[in-house]
Formats: sequence, structure tokens, C-alpha cells
Amino acid sequence: MNCNVSTEYAKGNIRKNKRPPILGIAYLIILLLCSFLSIYSITKTIIASNRQNCLVEEFNSLSSSNDSILSENTKLQNEISEKQYAYDKIISNKKIAHLTFDDGPSDNTLKLLDVLDKYNAKATFFVVYKEGYDDIYKEIIKRGHVLANHTYSHSYRKIYSSAESFISEVEALDNKLKEITGKEPSKILRFPGGSNTGYINEQSNIFQSIFKALESRGYTYFDWNVDSSDATKATVDEKSIINSVLEGSSNVNTAIILMHDTNMKYTTLEAMPEILKGLTAQGYIFMPLNHDSADIRFIKSN
Ligand SMILES: [Zn+2]
Repeated sequence: MNCNVSTEYAKGNIRKNKRPPILGIAYLIILLLCSFLSIYSITKTIIASNRQNCLVEEFNSLSSSNDSILSENTKLQNEISEKQYAYDKIISNKKIAHLTFDDGPSDNTLKLLDVLDKYNAKATFFVVYKEGYDDIYKEIIKRGHVLANHTYSHSYRKIYSSAESFISEVEALDNKLKEITGKEPSKILRFPGGSNTGYINEQSNIFQSIFKALESRGYTYFDWNVDSSDATKATVDEKSIINSVLEGSSNVNTAIILMHDTNMKYTTLEAMPEILKGLTAQGYIFMPLNHDSADIRFIKSN
């Protein structure tokens, strides 16, 4: 019996002895949690601080790189200004020849481009639309010449029937050229027959309407002050063309020279080497037309 009592007592003791370890484990867990949270918080702060340092370093590096770009930019701007000044000085003392070829492209255009390349001369091609010449339009641009607008069809009756008709012909050609070459149009134009063409003079109200419409669309047009005379008949002899150009150019400092690029005008192609040599001897340099070129126009807007 005693023995049982002693056993119960012993069990009670055991129960009493088990309580402290549970509390201890709970404390331990809380302590571990607190330590973990504390370590987590410290680690987070360290990471944030490192990140901030990295960002500051990155900012300083970008700032210094920006300073260096700005300084390089200023240096380049100065170089451009100096070169522009030197260029303007050279140009102001030079005679400028704008070689212009109307009505192309043709089977002669590639040979014409080769001759121009040989003399390092850049020209302006006032083209119309002709099927089968897509590569030629592209080649004119590729070799550094200006592809300019001479209307889509060159049909006097059609283009000069109304201002709307003229503009639609100009835009139709430029859309086609953009589709072929992938380049924006130069918006440099020559009226078929020149701006004093009989078709326009007879209907001067159309002429002024065309001018206004062209101006509002950003177009500039050019006539010429030197006529090669290569259009006076189907095929003019080579010598006459050379003489007309060299005589016409001898009296001016800026020459816009009218020539033609059609299959029948092969003598114009043959005349080119002598024309280029002769003009160079007269002190000319060759430049394509641009929107600021000499104001050589037979008829101007009111
Ligand atoms: Zn023409």
C-alpha cells in the first residue's frame, strides 16, 4: 500500500518537474524569434544602405559622364562652326554651277552618272515617272545627286488644266519616288516648260494658285539662266551643246544649267566631259540645287 502511495507521489513530482522545461522552450522560441527579427531588420538595413551607396555611385558616374558628353558636344559645335566658316569663305569666292537634267530617267542616265562621278560633280535630276527605271531613281540618290520633281506625266494638257491637277501630279510623283527609294522627297521642282511656259501664262490665275499650293506644301521651284540648247531639236550636235553651256556660263557667277536626260539626248551625254572641264576652267564648282540656292525663276508669285 505504502508502495502505491509512494508511486503516486513520485508521479506528482514528475508532473511538477515537467512544467519548467515547456516554459523554457517557449521563452527560447520567443528569444529566437526576437533574435531572428532583429537580425532580419539589421540585414535589411545593411542591404538598403549598400543599395543606396550603389545608387549614389551610379549617379556620380552618370553625372560625370554627362559632363564629359556636354564638354565633347561643345567641342564638336565649335569644330562645326569653324568648318562652316571656312566652307562659307571658300564658297563666297567660288562660282557655282548647278547642272540640271530634265525629263529622265533614260537609258543614258547610268553613263551620265559615271561621267559625273569621274569629275566629282553632283547634279540635280528633274525626273518624271517612267516604268522600268526603279533602279535608276535609286542610283541617282545613292551617288549623292538630288532627285527632283518634274511632275508625274509631264503632259502639259493634263498638268496645267487646273491648280488641283498640277498639285496632284507633283504629289503622285513624290509618292511614287518615296515608294521606290524609301527617301523623303527633296521638294525641289521644275515646271515642265519652265515657269514661263505658255500654258501657264495664258491662265495666270492657275499659275498663282499653283504657286500658293506649292509654297504651302514646302516646295521650291527653279528655272535656269544657262540653256544648253539640247532641246532645240530632237538631237543637237555635241559641239553646239558644249558652246551654249560654256558661253552662257561665262557671264554669270551662279549658273543653273538646263540639260536633258532622254534616250534621244545622247549628244548631251557625249558633251558632258568637255562641259565639266570647261566649267572647272572657268572657276566653277558643282553643287546640286537645294532650297537656299540662287533665286533663278522666270516668274515669281505675287
Ligand atoms: Zn521637261
